[in-house]
Amino acid sequence: AVNRKFHPEDTIIEVAGRKIGAGYFNVMAGPCSVENEAQIVECAERVKAAGASFLRGGAFKPRTSPYSFQGLEAEGLKLLLEAKRQTGLPIVTEIMSEKHLDLFADVDIIQLGARNMQNFMLLKELGRCNKPILLKRGLSATMEEFLMAAEYIFAGGNKQVILCERGIRTFEKMIRNNLDLSAVPLVKMFSHLPIIIDPSHAAGRRDMVQPLSRAAIAAGADGLIIEAHNDPKHALCDGAQSLDLDQFDHVMSDIKRRAEFE
Ligand code: PEP
Ligand code: MN
Repeated sequence: AVNRKFHPEDTIIEVAGRKIGAGYFNVMAGPCSVENEAQIVECAERVKAAGASFLRGGAFKPRTSPYSFQGLEAEGLKLLLEAKRQTGLPIVTEIMSEKHLDLFADVDIIQLGARNMQNFMLLKELGRCNKPILLKRGLSATMEEFLMAAEYIFAGGNKQVILCERGIRTFEKMIRNNLDLSAVPLVKMFSHLPIIIDPSHAAGRRDMVQPLSRAAIAAGADGLIIEAHNDPKHALCDGAQSLDLDQFDHVMSDIKRRAEFE
């Protein structure tokens, strides 16, 4: 079970030679979406050089409008794997349907996005697969619903779950979502699972990424997932919240001064 009562020790997720949780802090970074080979490889090289330990990038994108860019899908996964081959960075990317699981065979961490947090069939399928799952909190999910979604994955036998707080809906309009930092101590009290923070989707604006990253570290988060793009102005998705690669360097050096990396 995900409940700490049944598992007092912090869980450490071991993946691609990295450890996540119990004080092992990691930064996952990269663009919202994979757009082309040059873009994803440049992002991978730069976030790696800055100290990120995973490359993020969406291939299947859950967009509000069906007319928005939907991701490169299978081709995007191929390009992510190419960036992994060239840089050695393990990859994290979102799955939207259990039908695509075969395509994710070489993905290091499978992301289950906020919009699918209560897609129970998908949760059950991910429970049967033997890969770490990055489970993002639903847009208006309570903590109990969030932890129960993780429990679905556990119930199928997969105990490699990393939780991710990415902001919840409130009345505030100056930010895209509202980062619920209390998720960090609550998860630590009620569960043994690692929890990381996504300041990019929480705020929806790049000028909030550094302060929210500092706050996440102070709250005891086990890592961060940050959107960084080689050309945010022309990004096909989430440009406003994406750091450019120089800004990412700057934010990363600040993070490295504040968080304890393994
Ligand atoms: C993303 O990581 O690009 C994403 C769509 O995140 P979320 O599911 O948290 O909105
Ligand atoms: Mn995004």
